[in-house]
Amino acid sequence: MATTDQFRRRVRAFAEQMCLEIGEVSVADEECWLAAIEQMAAEVGDAVATTLIERQAAAHVEAAATEEANCPQCGKRGRYQGDRQRELISRRGSVAISEPEYFCPCCRKAFFPDDRSDRC
Ligand SMILES: [Zn+2]
Repeated sequence: MATTDQFRRRVRAFAEQMCLEIGEVSVADEECWLAAIEQMAAEVGDAVATTLIERQAAAHVEAAATEEANCPQCGKRGRYQGDRQRELISRRGSVAISEPEYFCPCCRKAFFPDDRSDRC
C-alpha cells in the first residue's frame, strides 16, 4: 500500500494526539533532551508497527486458512489442527503470529503451509 496524502494526514493527527497524551518526556541526568524524545518516538513507532504487522498477518492467515492442505513432504491431504502461536522478531520488535497447523496422517507429523511464505 502506498501512503496517500490523506493517510499521512491521519497519521500526523494520530501522532499529535499521542503527543498530547504522552505529555512532557522525562530526561534522565546526562541525557540529551533530543535523544530522550527520539527514544520515546521510536518506542511509539515500534508499537504501532508491531500492531500493524500482527493485524495484517492475522488477516493473511485467516484468508488462507482452509480445512485441509497438502503435506509439503508427501503431497497427501493433511487435517487442520487449529492455530499455533509463535513469536517472530521483526525489524521493529517482537510480534505474535498465529498460523494454521495441519497434521499429515501418512508422515505422522504436523506442517505449516504458510512457513514458506513468511520467509520470502
Ligand atoms: Zn505427508
